[in-house]
Amino acid sequence: MEDTRTIACRRCGACCSVDMIAYADTGDRERWEKEGRTDILARLDGNSVFWAGDRIISRSGTKVDHCFYLRCDGGLCSCEIYETRPRVCREYVPGSSELCPLYFEKAGSIKEG
Ligand code: SF4
Ligand code: SF4
Repeated sequence: MEDTRTIACRRCGACCSVDMIAYADTGDRERWEKEGRTDILARLDGNSVFWAGDRIISRSGTKVDHCFYLRCDGGLCSCEIYETRPRVCREYVPGSSELCPLYFEKAGSIKEG
């Protein structure tokens, strides 16, 4: 049976250490077009970074270590386009993969439970 227990996100920003440009899908693009988010679309079409299969590459040679829309302050991170963030971001479940520090905590609680 699928485990439905979830752990509250701690807003560390680790899951945003990628660029959403690499993951936005057709549905996201259509929503942004409908919402008139030309700022996001311009960023997508500008294609200043791209996903090279296992890492993000910047065409300008700059190191890309987190999403352009990630904002962190005092150890708490947030998404600047939270209300219309890409589907892949909305569907990400805290603790569901090793990139989230809650992964091992969740794995431990399932074993104990
Ligand atoms: S769009 Fe928002 S939620 Fe998605 S990776 Fe960027 S900062 Fe994180
Ligand atoms: S890596 Fe996990 S705890 Fe950190 S912001 Fe993402 S979901 Fe939340």
